[in-house]
Order: sequence, then C-alpha cells, then structure tokens
Amino acid sequence: MNSNKSILRIFPKKTSYTPEDRLAYYPEGIIQAPMFSLFPKFDEIHISCSFTWDKDYCIKLQEQYQAFTDQPVKVGGPAFVSVAKEFTPGLYLKPNIVFTSRGCNNQCPWCIVPKIEGRLKELPICPGNIIQDNNFLQTNRKHKDKVFEMLRAQRRIQFKGGLQPNLIDDHFIENIRSLKIDELWLACDTDQSLPAFKKACQMLVKGGFNREKIKCYVLIGDDMEANENRLQEVYQTGAMPFAQLLRDFTSCKTEYTKVWNAFARQWQRPASINAHMKRGTQFKDYST
Ligand code: SF4
Repeated sequence: MNSNKSILRIFPKKTSYTPEDRLAYYPEGIIQAPMFSLFPKFDEIHISCSFTWDKDYCIKLQEQYQAFTDQPVKVGGPAFVSVAKEFTPGLYLKPNIVFTSRGCNNQCPWCIVPKIEGRLKELPICPGNIIQDNNFLQTNRKHKDKVFEMLRAQRRIQFKGGLQPNLIDDHFIENIRSLKIDELWLACDTDQSLPAFKKACQMLVKGGFNREKIKCYVLIGDDMEANENRLQEVYQTGAMPFAQLLRDFTSCKTEYTKVWNAFARQWQRPASINAHMKRGTQFKDYST
C-alpha cells in the first residue's frame, strides 16, 4: 500500500472488488464498533461507501465507531461524491485492480465521473490486470504504451472501466492483440453512439476478438423497446451487452418497476442473452 498512513478500511459489503487484507473490515449489517485492538495498528478509519443506498448505514457506523476510538473516522467513497483524483493500489480495491488515470474530459449528463474526478489526469502506473480507468483511451500514446508494457507481465487482463468506442484505433488494437486479454468493455449508452460502437466492435472482431471477450455497457431505463433494439444491435455486432439501469446519483435510490428490473436482469447474464437471441429478435413482453 502506498499510503504513508496505516488505514483501517470499513466496507458495508464484501464484493469481488473490495480488498481482503488484515486492515479491511466488513461489519455485515452490524452497527456496533468491533474490538479495534484486534486489528494491526492503524492511524485512521475510512468507511468506504460505493452505493447511495448504503449511505445512512455508513453514517451510523461513523458515529458509532468514533465513540470508541481516538483515531479519526472518515466516511466517503463514490456514494458521497468524494473527490477521487489519485489512486493508492490496494486501499479501497483489491491490489490487482488499478487506475492508471482518473477523470474524463467528456460530460455525459448521466455520469458522475467528471464531477468527482475532474478532467482526465494520468497517474503513475502500478501493476495490475484489471484496468479500471473511466476513460483509458483519452490518455496519451506514451502513457498507453507504458500501460501495455506493464500488462505484458499480466494474465486475464480486463479493461473494465469502459472504452470510448470512437477512440479505439489501430494502435490500441495492435497492442492488445499481443496481450492476454480476458475482457474488453466498451460502452454504448445512447442510440446516437451506436454507429461509433459498431465501427469499434467491428475493428475488434477483425483484430481477432469475439463476443467472449468484447463486452459492452448499455445504459437503459427510458424507452424499453428502443433499449431492447440497442441491446440487440450490440449483440448482433459481436459484443455481449450488459444492461445498466440509469441511476440518479444525486438521490438516494432510483426505483424501477418489477418489469424494468426483469428487463435489466434478462440483459445482464450471457446465458439468458444467448437464449433470448436464439429465440429471435422479437421484442419480449417483460411483464409476464
Ligand atoms: S460516461 Fe464515460 S465518457 Fe461519459 S463522462 Fe462518464 S466516464 Fe466520461
């Protein structure tokens, strides 16, 4: 861990992304403070909250914990729109999940990244196989080359943060062809972005990648039939779509009907997507 301070990190939920070292703690719904003397020595406690619906719980944890320790107890994370301009490997994410840049120069109205991370900033490169940058393709060529160099020693590489389709170029494809790529995540969040997505996907297919490796975030939640058409087009172009319901990051929780949730689930699991597409492209009634 690069941080000079020793930090006990508290996560409301254990996920495939959260760290598992001796200074990471999962209270699992319990509010009471744990026996802090059982942990290795620490200077601060950080409660890391990713989802808005965990915010109240995290605030309660902060109040409770602060009563039992002299060390500062801080609460933050994406749910609190905390500024995140730097990156310390292993602190709030598993050590193999890395950011080589923060921020994004775009201003997509549904996205919180430019608000909490600002404009794109390249960071020192740490080893890791999951690249979580929000817009890696906006980094300059020299930075990308250094990242590719780091990745030559990695296996099961995933570009997970979402690759901006119209920035996929021959330089990117040439470099990733010689890497042990597991997943490449593109994004196709609006109907207007379909042409750029199709071009990028076709370039990747031509470069030797298939639907096993090409994945695509697809934002849904406004017009179900139009969303279904976009999801199907993404699939037919050669990528495996992953539906994401649009969330309002300013409110605590965006509620969707059962029908919308069923629709999203249908388009989040490759087995159900393959079966759905095999049956034909007719719009399915998700209310049944
Ligand atoms: S959705 Fe992607 S491209 Fe758009 S602002 Fe967010 S990070 Fe940038």
